[in-house]
Amino acid sequence: MALLEVNDLTVKFYTQEGVVTAVDDLSYRIERGEKFGVVGESGAGKSVTALSLMRLIESPGRIESGEILFKGEDLLEMSEEEIRDVRGNEIAMIFQDAQTALNPVYTVGEQIAEAVRHHLDYDDEEARERTIQLLDTVGIPEAESRYSDYPHEFSGGMQQRAVIAMALSCDPDLLLCDEPTTALDVTIEAQILEELESLADEFDTAIQLITHDLGVVAEVCDRVMVMYAGSPVEKAPVEELYYDPKHPYTVGLMSSIPRVGDRRERLQTIPGTMPDLVELPPGCSFHPRCPYAEDVCTKREPPLLNPETGRDASGTDAERAAACLEYTGELQEGLDYEVEIR
Ligand code: SF4
Ligand code: MG
Repeated sequence: MALLEVNDLTVKFYTQEGVVTAVDDLSYRIERGEKFGVVGESGAGKSVTALSLMRLIESPGRIESGEILFKGEDLLEMSEEEIRDVRGNEIAMIFQDAQTALNPVYTVGEQIAEAVRHHLDYDDEEARERTIQLLDTVGIPEAESRYSDYPHEFSGGMQQRAVIAMALSCDPDLLLCDEPTTALDVTIEAQILEELESLADEFDTAIQLITHDLGVVAEVCDRVMVMYAGSPVEKAPVEELYYDPKHPYTVGLMSSIPRVGDRRERLQTIPGTMPDLVELPPGCSFHPRCPYAEDVCTKREPPLLNPETGRDASGTDAERAAACLEYTGELQEGLDYEVEIR
């Protein structure tokens, strides 16, 4: 049994401007201990997906349909009380901004100890010891004396480490990380990602890592799902995706990674922007930006390339699949990039 299995998840937001389909018929699975990346531009539905797993979608948002099986049980069927038990205990979440996760009026140690007491039923002394151990594990030097520091006495990187320690305090089976290092500078980012990866191994925690940065995914993940406008466009083991991307959008994302030795100014971006989610373009929603779009693309949706089972395009519309694969093949030939895997 997969640790997490999301089937046909659809999430909509009923806004003044209309109904926004933030996540559209999304399916994926994460195995125990697996590091799974979710990549896409902002508006792709990455964060909404993670919040759905925690059942934290708030009005005007609504989970319309689908199931979220966690260890075989549908999170969407659980009572408020049951889901609260899962949240934080079995599924924990780390956000981009560590500052919002830390309460400025309590010391870092007290906050983590509180989480430890809450989740593990430890007494004060045990919780303190466990906290110091956790701070040490996530790479905070002199953890014992830093225990009584307030969040503002920590650097940005240290704050994010503390948040990771807090998330790990309950020994979750799944850790949702939403752009956990976006706010940090590159050196600190690399350190924290490395730390996160080895902690996940040590604690045998699966990670769902959300990012707009394929470089970050390369560093940490085993498998990756690329999302566009609420739908997955490609899923693959990370190396396959890097060396042989199939979907034009993935190829576009790849070419927006700086090449080895290149500086930022040569960075390409995919022309255009994410479509209006209230009114998605018909057919393949990427067609207004796709350099290989043909008439047929405006009429029919392409099948998901590269489903879990392998590299073949699935779906009944084999013709469409073949066409899209052929286009992407051409696209790759015309594209001379090297991918830097840090
Ligand atoms: Fe979509 Fe057509 Fe481009 Fe494939 S070739 S990504 S179906 S627009
Ligand atoms: Mg987001």
